[in-house]
Amino acid sequence: MSDITSFDILDEEIQNTGGKARVLQALWDGDTGGWYLTFSLYAENPSVSGDLVWYYLGRVHSDGDQTTEAFAKELAAKAVNKYGLEFYFPSPDDADDDCPDWKERDKAISCAGCGKLILPDRDTTLPKEICYPCYRERERNQALIDDELQEYGVSLYRCKGRKYQGMRSCGYMEDFAMFPYISEALKRKIGTEGVTVLTIEKNELQSLSQKLEARLDVLAPLYKKAAPHDRNGKVISMFRDQSYKGKRYTLDSYRDPVHEEMAELLYSYNTTQEVIREKGCFKFFIKAKGYSYRDDAFMRFIHHTCKGRATINRMHEHYKKLLSREQVLSTLEKLERFGCISIKDDLITMTHLGKYAV
Ligand SMILES: [Zn+2]
Repeated sequence: MSDITSFDILDEEIQNTGGKARVLQALWDGDTGGWYLTFSLYAENPSVSGDLVWYYLGRVHSDGDQTTEAFAKELAAKAVNKYGLEFYFPSPDDADDDCPDWKERDKAISCAGCGKLILPDRDTTLPKEICYPCYRERERNQALIDDELQEYGVSLYRCKGRKYQGMRSCGYMEDFAMFPYISEALKRKIGTEGVTVLTIEKNELQSLSQKLEARLDVLAPLYKKAAPHDRNGKVISMFRDQSYKGKRYTLDSYRDPVHEEMAELLYSYNTTQEVIREKGCFKFFIKAKGYSYRDDAFMRFIHHTCKGRATINRMHEHYKKLLSREQVLSTLEKLERFGCISIKDDLITMTHLGKYAV
């Protein structure tokens, strides 16, 4: 079984089944590595009477010039041409593993949102009439209409002059390993309205470094080397080598809490040392009080889709199915008040603050 990277490979897999190909089926599957698309085949097999026999063919891999979906369709068109088979691809527009197998298609219904085939009894926690991506979209749209508060999302940068280097993004300040070691005085600045910027520089950096070092000095004697993982007879390694005060530590952040804390703190400690040496600072951009899901959606649309410059008309056009003109305008005014955008006549420009907070 190989990855299907060309029609020749697909054709060879089809021929290896030894049957008369009737249906080529493309279904999504997923694991911790992400989504992937698989090809399988239903074929008449002369040695098996009755039903069509199912054969797994392999994962579809495009070379990167096309999407996996487009590549799968191109390969399938050639297979249809050669074998006169049926191509069954129930979710060609987005990855979804709730679609029925070709043999279950009679039990399926069409999603009320996008029309694709789904099994109504696939997941009891979801509405029966729509697929999961449509359900998620419905939820997002509702959050946008309701202007639900979000108040999370923090991005950390290390900065030197005008140069900003993104380090990490988390939901809340408390998610950062260095958070307990930031002074109380500084923490009190968190939580003002809109987007808050928390800058750690000079004396505060020295103090942070000392506190991280003190904690690492407690952890280092507790360190014990971890055994390699052995899952199903296969040894897998998820270790990272790091040095601290001249000694090397092989850290397994996934299984050992001491290792996990050391790995996080060493990253913070080493970066703090570098920032002190280069006379830079850390900046946290915090989406704080009053920041809503709608604000975030507007910011992402202006930043990613409009590349930082949009027009009011474009915003009206983009949100016209969900929001009134008054809602669009009041959201833009709010973002301007937060300092995330500036508006001049019809033109909206993302500010420095907005760009790094988004
Ligand atoms: Zn749908």
